[in-house]
Amino acid sequence: MSIEVLPLDADKRGECPQEFSFGAVFSDHMFRQVFDKGVGWHDAQIVPYQALQLDPSAAVLHYSQEIFEGLKAYRREDGKINLFRPEANCRRFNRSAARMVMPEVEESLHLEALKKLVKLDAAWVPSKDGSSLYIRPAMIATSSKLGLGASSQYTHFIITGPSGAYFAGGFNPIAVYITDEYRRAVAGGVGEAKTGGNYAASLMASEKVAELGYSQVLWLDSIHGQYIEEVGAMNICFVYEGKKIVTPALSGSILPGITRDSILKLAPTLGYEVSEERMDVNQVVADIESGKITEVFGCGTAAVISPVGKLCFMQKDYVVNNNESGPVSKHLYDQLTGIQYGKIEDPFGWITTID
Ligand SMILES: *Cc1c(COP(=O)(O)O)cnc(C)c1O
Repeated sequence: MSIEVLPLDADKRGECPQEFSFGAVFSDHMFRQVFDKGVGWHDAQIVPYQALQLDPSAAVLHYSQEIFEGLKAYRREDGKINLFRPEANCRRFNRSAARMVMPEVEESLHLEALKKLVKLDAAWVPSKDGSSLYIRPAMIATSSKLGLGASSQYTHFIITGPSGAYFAGGFNPIAVYITDEYRRAVAGGVGEAKTGGNYAASLMASEKVAELGYSQVLWLDSIHGQYIEEVGAMNICFVYEGKKIVTPALSGSILPGITRDSILKLAPTLGYEVSEERMDVNQVVADIESGKITEVFGCGTAAVISPVGKLCFMQKDYVVNNNESGPVSKHLYDQLTGIQYGKIEDPFGWITTID
C-alpha cells in the first residue's frame, strides 16, 4: 500500500511560531488511514491537519479502545533531521495494539508515514537549543456501536507539533510523591500498553500531589504496594554510589520505555554498571537516607532525563544529592541528547536521518 499525499495550498501553509511549549500547536499535515474488518487497512493519506469525524457512538468515546505513541524529530546542526529509534516506537505501537485487541500496522508503512510526514512539515522542526518536533501516532476504535466488544473499524493517525526545551529553567531536579493510596496499573491489566485509560486513571493522584508541591507521582505495584514501578510518563532510575544504575525490572504493569532501554544499553559503554531489579520502596528510601543512592532520575521521551531531587513517602521527604542534579544524570543526558541531535556519533544504529 502506498501513501497518498494531499498537500496544502501554499497560501494556507502555517508557520512554526517562535515560542511554543509542548503539545499546543500542530504542524500543517497529518497522516491517517482506516481499517475495516474483512478489508484491512486502506486509504493511507497525508492530508492537511483537520478534525476527525466521529459518530457520538464511536467505541473509543465510551470504552477507551485507544493507543498512542510519542517520539521526536531532532534538528541537527547541518540542518538535517534525526528520528530516534522510530522502529522501536512502531513495534511498541503494535504490542499495545495487540493488548487492546486492535489491528497491527505494518511496521514499514508506519515508518514511511513518519518519515514522509516529518519531511513534508520539515519547516516545523525547530532548531532552538533543546527543542524538537514531537510526533504523536495514535489509533482509535471507530465502530458506531454501544454493544461491548472489540470494534470492527479503526482510525490510525499521526500528528506532530513543535516542542520546547523541557528544561527551560536549567537542568533542575523535580520533586516526586510516592503514593501509598492510588495505583496506576494492576498485574494482568494494561499498564504495559500505551493506552489513554492509564492516564485517565492517574489524573486524580497527579492533581492531588501537585497541590502539595510535587510535580510527579511515583507509582508502587498494585498487589503489595511495596515495589517501585514508574513515575507519571517516565520510568525511574536510581544511581548507587555514582556508578551503578538500577531501574525496576519490567513487571507487566510498567510501561517499557524506549529511553529506559536506551539507558540500559548506553550506560555500560560509558563505564556504568546497570541492573534491572525488583525494588522495595522501604529499601530505596533507606538507601537515600544512608547516602548509598547518590542520584535519582526519571527517563522518557519528553525530558530524556529528569533529575529527581526529593521524594516524599509516608509524609516524609527524602532529599537526594542536596536537591541538585548530579553528574551521572547530566552525563547520560548529554550523551543521549548528543546522539539524538547528531552531535555525537551513534554506535547503536538508533538514528534515522531525513534529508
Ligand atoms: C511513554 C511512557 C513512558 C516513557 O517511554 P519512552 O518510550 O521512554 O518515552 C513511561 N511511562 C509511561 C506510563 C509512558 O506512557
